[in-house]
Amino acid sequence: MFLTILAGFIVVPAMAYVIWYVAGYNPGAQKHWEILPTQVEYRAKHPQCCHGADLTCCHCGSDQMLDLGLLGYSDWRRQIICRACKNRLWREMDQ
Ligand SMILES: [Zn+2]
Repeated sequence: MFLTILAGFIVVPAMAYVIWYVAGYNPGAQKHWEILPTQVEYRAKHPQCCHGADLTCCHCGSDQMLDLGLLGYSDWRRQIICRACKNRLWREMDQ
């Protein structure tokens, strides 16, 4: 009986962690996000897209951007996407 309860205290949190890791963190999506440059790297790579504090899309020149969460609206892993051509431009993190 005691071992069953003890196993429950280990198995249930372990299962919750596995579910969070696969569904909430999603290592595949994380890798997809990490290949995007940071804003500093984007500025260095595309100086022609820097207009003071403003940035434009390196694909189409649009200055309209979307700030989207990687897996959902409140995901701390943000990706900036061009509103016109829908290319992913750079990544950011919510604090
Ligand atoms: Zn664009």
